[in-house]
Amino acid sequence: MEQVATIRLPEQGAPMTRILVVEDEQDIAELIKHSLERSGSVRVDTVGSGDLAIHAATASPPDLLILDLNLPVVDGLEVCRVLRSAPATQHIPIIMLTARTHELDRVTGLDLGADDYVTKPFSLRELAARVRAVLRRRQAVTPSGATVAVYRGRHLEADFDAVAIHVEGRAVKLTRREFELLKCLVENRNRVLSRDRLLERVWGYDCFIETRSVDVHVGRLRSKLGPAGQQIETVVGLGYRFVE
Ligand code: CA
Repeated sequence: MEQVATIRLPEQGAPMTRILVVEDEQDIAELIKHSLERSGSVRVDTVGSGDLAIHAATASPPDLLILDLNLPVVDGLEVCRVLRSAPATQHIPIIMLTARTHELDRVTGLDLGADDYVTKPFSLRELAARVRAVLRRRQAVTPSGATVAVYRGRHLEADFDAVAIHVEGRAVKLTRREFELLKCLVENRNRVLSRDRLLERVWGYDCFIETRSVDVHVGRLRSKLGPAGQQIETVVGLGYRFVE
C-alpha cells in the first residue's frame, strides 16, 4: 500500500468531515484512518464489525462510510441494506471495500445502494480519490440529504421529478443536458459551482469533454429561460451560480 494520500475538501471553511471506517482487520483500518486524517479536515472513526457499524451510523450518521464486505457478525452487504432502509441513514454515502475475486459482491453492493467500491488490495491514494469524488457528489444535494424535487422561485417553477420547467407560467423545453444543468444549479442555488464540478455532475466525472462545453450549454440554457436565465450568474474565474 502507498503511504501518500491526502483529502482536500473542495471548499475552504467547510466543517470537519466525519468518516466511519468499518473493517475488522485492525491494521488496514488504522492505515485508512491515518491517511485520510492527514489533511486535518477529516475525522475518522473505526469499528470492527457490522453490528457496531449499524449502531454507530444510526446513533450519529457520518458524512461517509467506508465499508468492508467481509465482516464478522453482520456482513457488509447486510450493513448496507439495513442502512439504506432506514430514513436516518439512507443518504449516507457508502464506499465498499471488496476482494477482487468477488464480482458478485460488487454488483450486489451497487444494487444495494453503495456509491462506489474499491477492490482489495487497493492503494490509499486510490481510496482517497474515491472519497473525494463521493464527497463532491454528496455536496450537490441539499443539507438534509434529499434532492430538491420541486423549486418555485421568482420566475422559475421547476418540477425535477416530472421534468416540467415553467418560466412565468410558460412551459420551457430543455434538452437532457440543459435540464440536468439547471437541476444542479438550482439544487446548489446561491453557491458557486465550478465548471469542473458541473462537468462531473452533468456529464459524469469520468467523461472527458472540454470545460468550454459547459459555457455553451449555460449560454443556451440562459436564453431559453428568459428572466430566470438572468439568475444564472457567471462568477469570473470560478464558475456559475444560480441566485434567488
Ligand atoms: Ca474484513
